[in-house]
Amino acid sequence: MKTVILAGGGHTHLEVLKRLSSHHDASVKWILVSASRYHYYSGMFSGFAEGLYSIEDIRIDLKQLCEKKRIHFIEAAVESFDPEHQTVTLSDGEQLALAYDRLSLDIGSHTAPEQIEGLAERQTQMKPAHLFPDRIEACRKAKELVIIGGGAAACEMAFSFHQWKQQHGRKYDRITVIASNEFIDRKSDQVIESMFEEKGIHFIKNDYAVKVTDRYVLTQNEKNILYQEVIFLGGAQAPKLLEASGLPVDQKGFMKVNAGLQTIDDSSIFAAGDCVALVTHPDLPKSGVYAVRQGEVLYHNLLASLNREPLADYTPQQRALILLSTGGMEALMLYGNWRKAGRWAWMWKDYIDRGYMRKYQ
Ligand SMILES: Cc1cc2nc3c(=O)[nH]c(=O)nc-3n(C[C@H](O)[C@H](O)[C@H](O)COP(=O)(O)OP(=O)(O)OC[C@H]3O[C@@H](n4cnc5c(N)ncnc54)[C@H](O)[C@@H]3O)c2cc1C
Repeated sequence: MKTVILAGGGHTHLEVLKRLSSHHDASVKWILVSASRYHYYSGMFSGFAEGLYSIEDIRIDLKQLCEKKRIHFIEAAVESFDPEHQTVTLSDGEQLALAYDRLSLDIGSHTAPEQIEGLAERQTQMKPAHLFPDRIEACRKAKELVIIGGGAAACEMAFSFHQWKQQHGRKYDRITVIASNEFIDRKSDQVIESMFEEKGIHFIKNDYAVKVTDRYVLTQNEKNILYQEVIFLGGAQAPKLLEASGLPVDQKGFMKVNAGLQTIDDSSIFAAGDCVALVTHPDLPKSGVYAVRQGEVLYHNLLASLNREPLADYTPQQRALILLSTGGMEALMLYGNWRKAGRWAWMWKDYIDRGYMRKYQ
């Protein structure tokens, strides 16, 4: 009997689970180890923050899915893995070591950058995703909410919390976005910035948050911004256990994988999603759309590797469609040079997101 351990219930492993038949080869034991019983779909986080979706709308019950597929499910965090002895150490109260023949990592990324002093212990953590729903109410009701980060997720969350506050009589609350870089590109940013202005979202541009104290976020340009809740959405950070394994990681600590999503020095370990650095595309954005597409190749390659067959290559799509929710059931569509905003764009996003969830629920 061979054992395949899927570590982490992220977007890519969901695709693997979807493809696995419930009558899969009985000589292979599949185990999913996830830090949470649920997979939370970040594409719907903004709608959840705004109050458009319930918790059940945005999450998938991994335990139930595994039962359907006759896959063993363990709710625990992977603490470490040992490539030499082919074991994974879990922490579910007691330490538990599991042996594997193939290990696949899809443990996502974190949002706790060490370079901002005091942030890690004070932020409302959005990743790993299962930590976020419990803090949503605190962010909605914070009189001063600060979002650090320049990117689509930071914009969406600012718009969504703003909309929630408008609808719940909290119009004197303040939301501040601090961004050191472009959100998307120059033209899209002009649209986003004018929306911030229109809605009264305070925007600090071309500045870095450098320190977080109990009450203030301090920036490089010496601004002190009062906060009750602070969220960091300024880029994905690598889970520490990747580098600790001794396998090659990039300069940020993400696991290096080849086009077959196989780690560089160990053919029995695969990895996908946010936690990897693809050697063929080192600048690939950390985005759910890429993680989902990797699922088909990962599924094929795990089976091919067990059967000693050739692996397939993953090639990212050239362009990705961005539907950025701007609050109040409106969205901005960005695709190549196209930029269009409106309710129709939100309806389209909602249709895609709900369709995505239906595939697994
Ligand atoms: C607010 C926000 C909004 C976003 N919106 C979008 C969007 O609209 N579209 C888009 O394409 N991307 C979006 N992203 C980016 C997207 O969330 C990530 O790129 C995507 O989740 C990556 O998928 P993944 O499979 O790598 O990991 P994830 O989907 O994050 O899953 C990782 C899983 O691993 C589990 N896990 C973590 N550590 C361990 C461990 N040690 N042991 C076991 N299990 C573990 C976690 O519980 C989690 O279930 C957004 C991100 C944020 C923060």
